[in-house]
Amino acid sequence: MDRYFSECGLFWRPLGGNNIDQISGHCYQYTDIKDLKSGLTASTIVVDLGKFDNHQALGVRNSAAAVPDIRELLQTPFLNPEAIFLTHSHPDHLNGIVHYLKAGYTLPPLFGGKYTLMILEELYDEFKVPRSIRPQFNIIHDGDVIKCGSLKIEVLASSHTCFDSFGLIIKAFDGTTVYHTGDMKTDNSTYFRKPTNLKRLRQLAGKVNFSVADFCGITSDGIAVREVDTFKKLVELIKKSRKRKIFIPVYPTHAEMYLVAFLAALKLKKNVIFYGYHDFYT
Ligand SMILES: [Zn+2]
Repeated sequence: MDRYFSECGLFWRPLGGNNIDQISGHCYQYTDIKDLKSGLTASTIVVDLGKFDNHQALGVRNSAAAVPDIRELLQTPFLNPEAIFLTHSHPDHLNGIVHYLKAGYTLPPLFGGKYTLMILEELYDEFKVPRSIRPQFNIIHDGDVIKCGSLKIEVLASSHTCFDSFGLIIKAFDGTTVYHTGDMKTDNSTYFRKPTNLKRLRQLAGKVNFSVADFCGITSDGIAVREVDTFKKLVELIKKSRKRKIFIPVYPTHAEMYLVAFLAALKLKKNVIFYGYHDFYT
């Protein structure tokens, strides 16, 4: 611990996250160090605790999953996290929770959206995590402000391809402010409400010192296709097709994809059959 905590201020450490070519378990540590008469004190939060998309690629035989390593935080009283914030429900941001609980670790209270809780409860059931060891879950909303020791966390609506995605404005005791985006798009044509809270972001723009935006494909130029354009294109393609049945493959964890497909079918008065596997969330 002394290794890296010799001065006051906000300390940030990525414990997981995307590589340039691979989606992996997201996890970030924020520790705010304050100097009191009694010595240094720390307030730590963790943002996201995901699992790797393809843990087999790591080459560990008979492994069930690969997750970011937060053992040091859980086992060092000075660094014990006060909370884990879950930006959204995708496996690379969420699924590490069940693996830590299954391995016998006690986790601090969780903060996330209602949909994230619904997906987590499915995971608890699937992995047979007893109720007695499930951490407390606090549902958060756009605009909520949560104090964790000397850290102040403001919740920001943030549109993504699943419900209830959030960004976080993390403010340290000395005023240092970080915008942690989570997975996010600035497309306000999203079919999920609320879209990214750009109004609040504009208000905060001058006060944000750093931004953590660990997007996949961040090195590509340009702007992603807007959801409303995907919808229009899909309607056009279905209209053109002379087939009686049309198959639209979607990622099950990206609910906006099948919502757009469903709305296109509704517009053209087509029947819809959902088909998928039981391991919907893993
Ligand atoms: Zn995501």
